[in-house]
Amino acid sequence: MTAPLWTLTAAESRRRIAAGEITAQELLSAHLERIDAVEPRVHAFLARSAEAARRDAEAVDGSRARGELAPLAGAVLGVKDVIAGLDHPTTAASRILEGYVSPYEATSLRRARARGAVVVGKTNLDEFAMGSSSEHSAFGPTLNPWDLERVPGGSSSGSAAAVAAGMAQVALGTDTGGSIRQPASFCGTFGLKPTYGRVSRYGVVAFASSMDQVGPLGRSVEDVARLYEAIAGGDELDASSAAEPVEPWTGSDDVRGLAFAVPDEYVGAGVDPGVARVVREAARALLDAGAVERRVALPATEHALDAYYLVADAEASSNLGRYDGLRYGPRRAVDAPEAAAWISAYRGRSFGTEVKRRIMLGTHVLSAGYYDAYYLRAMRVRALIRRELLAALETVDFLLTPTSPVVAFRLGERVDDPLAMYAVDILSVTANLAGLPAMSVPAGLHQGLPVGVQLMGRPFQETLLFRAAEALSRRLPQPAAWEAGAVR
Ligand code: GLN
Repeated sequence: MTAPLWTLTAAESRRRIAAGEITAQELLSAHLERIDAVEPRVHAFLARSAEAARRDAEAVDGSRARGELAPLAGAVLGVKDVIAGLDHPTTAASRILEGYVSPYEATSLRRARARGAVVVGKTNLDEFAMGSSSEHSAFGPTLNPWDLERVPGGSSSGSAAAVAAGMAQVALGTDTGGSIRQPASFCGTFGLKPTYGRVSRYGVVAFASSMDQVGPLGRSVEDVARLYEAIAGGDELDASSAAEPVEPWTGSDDVRGLAFAVPDEYVGAGVDPGVARVVREAARALLDAGAVERRVALPATEHALDAYYLVADAEASSNLGRYDGLRYGPRRAVDAPEAAAWISAYRGRSFGTEVKRRIMLGTHVLSAGYYDAYYLRAMRVRALIRRELLAALETVDFLLTPTSPVVAFRLGERVDDPLAMYAVDILSVTANLAGLPAMSVPAGLHQGLPVGVQLMGRPFQETLLFRAAEALSRRLPQPAAWEAGAVR
């Protein structure tokens, strides 16, 4: 029996579309059937539109008939529901944006569609991308396709789960403190957080603007690289976007002579020994491929989590000020006589607990009496972490670390303990604080669950990460969730 079309990577299906063996519409239909079969168990999507997807797939087949084939032709794409599109609502998994349809499309999404990607739906997340498990979604959690009693990670939960379960070939996520890499790691997919500024943030619901980045998830390095190349590059609609040219990845896995380090600070206390073992295996694979290992010291790492949560919450409290119940979101009857009380009551009813916690914390650390003690200090730590990482990356080409200290945890295990939830971000937030590119690569299983390793590199050297990721994925292949997980 030939493998179903939904098991193909986007690069494989593009080759078959090019050869005239399949059409984009057939590829899409296979995915829509797969979604019907597994989505009731996984809950990766918040909105779907088969009609809009069929229209886009038809357009791809039309251009194929004219002899044109875009780089992402027919690629079935899931889009995190903080990225604005015209065919679906954009809710950020929040009641405060329930049913909101954006009048414009995010640059990243527009570029992906212009290069042939076919959007199957908007994917679930923690409300406003605040969380690491999807349990903070106002519309119920996504479940991990490897084990339906476990979380898929977050906050790009539905994007990772949809890709892992064969409901989408590739997905867009956002990463402010690990939200692409950590769910990629928990679900056994690849996920890239590009250099800060690499991908336009235009049309992306803002969380912490100095760290937010859009990036790709997929089941191969090639798929991640092609989607990244499609969306990256300067954008006049986002002043923080970088004009640096985007160098395409050639498919190379050549790491001969490249130097890497596994910093002690990233494999010490708190890291599951099973995860640390997979990181050692990945280091071995890189050495076998001709890379060399060196040592670096990153002592400021121990303050990264504190700095991240102070900066992220400060920026969030400011960004979320715009949700006053008047300009966006559903009409909702609120009983309050004057404007300020009305807005406060409306916000009180519409934001979830975690979002409120962050707004309060962020407002506190920015307030006159505490600004210096918290926010300013956090910004100093941030500068120190960046300096330290850039100095280390002068002696090595990239760092190899676990993406997350743990494998996917059980639903309910951390949701009532904010600090336990925050703690899982400890190895991913440094790349955001420093603005560096970082990628999670599936590198093995521990107790039957996927373990991702993280590659972190110099600004704008995403291509070097792809080479190392490819070297790893050729040497440490991992079964798909439908072969070894819970969604056969
Ligand atoms: N889990 C982290 C947080 O809750 C990161 C979120 C993200 O990257 N969007 O802030």
